[in-house]
Amino acid sequence: MAKILRSEIYLLRFPLDIRLPWGTEKYRNHILVKIRTTETEGVGEGTPFYTHAYNSHALGIKIAKTIQGQKLPDALEALSKIQERLVQNRIVDYGILLAFETAILDALSKASGFVMAKELGKIYRKKIPATGTVYLAPISEMVRFAKYWTSQGITHLKIKVTGNEDIDCKIVKQIREAVGPRIALRIDANQAYEKAEKAAKTLRKLEEHGIIIAEQPIRWRDWDGLRKLRKMTNIKIMVDESVWKPSDIDLIATKKVADVVNFHPPKFGCLSVTRKLIEKALDLGLEYVIGGAVMSGVGVSAYMHLVASLREIQYPSEEIGLFNIRGYDIIKKPIGLTRGCLKLPTAGGLGVELDNSAVKRYQLEFNPSEFRVLLTRMAYSSYSALPWWFKNRFRFPFNIVRQFIS
Ligand SMILES: [Mg+2]
Repeated sequence: MAKILRSEIYLLRFPLDIRLPWGTEKYRNHILVKIRTTETEGVGEGTPFYTHAYNSHALGIKIAKTIQGQKLPDALEALSKIQERLVQNRIVDYGILLAFETAILDALSKASGFVMAKELGKIYRKKIPATGTVYLAPISEMVRFAKYWTSQGITHLKIKVTGNEDIDCKIVKQIREAVGPRIALRIDANQAYEKAEKAAKTLRKLEEHGIIIAEQPIRWRDWDGLRKLRKMTNIKIMVDESVWKPSDIDLIATKKVADVVNFHPPKFGCLSVTRKLIEKALDLGLEYVIGGAVMSGVGVSAYMHLVASLREIQYPSEEIGLFNIRGYDIIKKPIGLTRGCLKLPTAGGLGVELDNSAVKRYQLEFNPSEFRVLLTRMAYSSYSALPWWFKNRFRFPFNIVRQFIS
């Protein structure tokens, strides 16, 4: 059985330039993990969600030391123990765990000649239907983007909205007119309507244009508001920002605050953990979507193997990848769209080959003892050690600090 010789962790900075309600994201930091074993190599990607990538890197160094010299199945076991321990009381950027687990599963399935989805369970499908996201821009540009996605065979669009009733009605109306009645449309407000009453007023108008889901219309912890809103509209309510740890899935089902959950694997960690949580959500009567983090072909492929291994999919996946959104990638054969779907790579393991020169191009060089790296690590460990009631109440000041440091 193959043993891990060493792990390499890279921070990558991908230029993005996408507009969201709180501002423009010029770039996003991702983590790439390469694992070298006595037989094969594995690669995995993750994105930090709550803190800076420096913290993920620091945790990655610890994980690398723990699994060094271990057999691959033992390393998987060790990883799930690390995750179990961390989830007890800390906010963790699980993106690094996702990257490590993907890399180990890639190496493991390559060694046994399997497609990675098989390591996760069973292969239910090889075509993964995709969602096209329309980011905020002047309306004519948003319409152009929506039409571009549908010209690629996409039948499900997610439209970012602003929280301003007039603007949002205009955006949705014009996109609906441009794409026709058969395309499924949903909106993502990223909390921009803030309160249930304001959201309900706009949603009632958007119902006319056949919107099927409103994602995170109001504030993330406003459970009463979300529950009330569900009764005030025929549009299904999806939560995204409201979910930030695995136990939130139970809470959402018990409190009946949403119909659909957006599952971002880097928020939940390992693919196997995310998969179990999705199965649980289904058992609790919730619907789900796999969220997107604009990943490279490595992450896109990992998500595709996850989707391939799930018994039921209710909506197309959001993760469509940097290549389809921005036209570049770090793998040799980027995964393009074919009639609105991404085809599962079946070459064995994850099924992708890294383009090392592209990895170098986007690599973020940093010195672990630099002042701002130490500052973000200190802020992160102090904050994450605080009790949950505090973190639940004061989440955003921390995000602001994160933005400032990055
Ligand atoms: Mg969202």
